[in-house]
Amino acid sequence: MSTVGRFAPSPTGPLHLGSLVAAVGSWLYARRAGGRWLMRIEDVDTPRVVPGSAEEILAALTRYGLEWDGEIVWQSRRTRLYEDALATLRARGFVYDCGCSRTDGVYPGTCRNGLPAGREARAVRFRAPDEVIAFDDVLHGRVEENVATSVGDFVVKRADGLFAYQLAVVVDDAEQSVTQVVRGDDLLSSTARQIALQRALGYATPEYVHLPLVRNADGEKLSKRDGALPLPTLDERRVVETLAIALRFLGIDVKESTPREMLESAL
Ligand SMILES: [Zn+2]
Repeated sequence: MSTVGRFAPSPTGPLHLGSLVAAVGSWLYARRAGGRWLMRIEDVDTPRVVPGSAEEILAALTRYGLEWDGEIVWQSRRTRLYEDALATLRARGFVYDCGCSRTDGVYPGTCRNGLPAGREARAVRFRAPDEVIAFDDVLHGRVEENVATSVGDFVVKRADGLFAYQLAVVVDDAEQSVTQVVRGDDLLSSTARQIALQRALGYATPEYVHLPLVRNADGEKLSKRDGALPLPTLDERRVVETLAIALRFLGIDVKESTPREMLESAL
């Protein structure tokens, strides 16, 4: 089976170094395997989407020499697919309506056997299987998690009517025939939940590669919140320098030339 990788940015702000590393990393893994590399805009969480940000991210990726295969997939246009998956989960008894307000920590299973009297359905939860889910991450090795004890039954459709990230990702990866997921290791803790959903829906589980996150001087993940700077896209010199930093972070030293040549020589 030929490799299909993907990059799936959320359009909540401009691309920063951390997301460039994930983009370059996923591109390298897919291309080294002679595979395809797909682009998916994860705009399922519509209230968080910053208008124009998706276009900005795509332009920046192009500027950095990254070319994707096929058409761009937009989660916001795929509600029908998520509805179908939810219907399948419901028909198979894997989900139930939950009338609780937002809860922190492990969900106690309040609505597992039916809504308590007087409560209305707000969200839809997935019954976490009470078993250890194990997978072999290419960089982290064996990872094991029992979702029932780590997070409990988790939300797949939110109280605001939007589909949860976990369900959208699983449906999209399967529907796009993705065989290899390369992303930041902040998503390592989502993987067991996603595998549980894949099994419930009868999907194959892709190969996982969780890359170390780029951290700031305080050792925290770079994000818009802690003021990670958007990537330079205008000045060629700075684009080349930034791409060299991203490649070095992935353990690859290449001679500075054009972004395209640098990526080709990293293969
Ligand atoms: Zn509940």
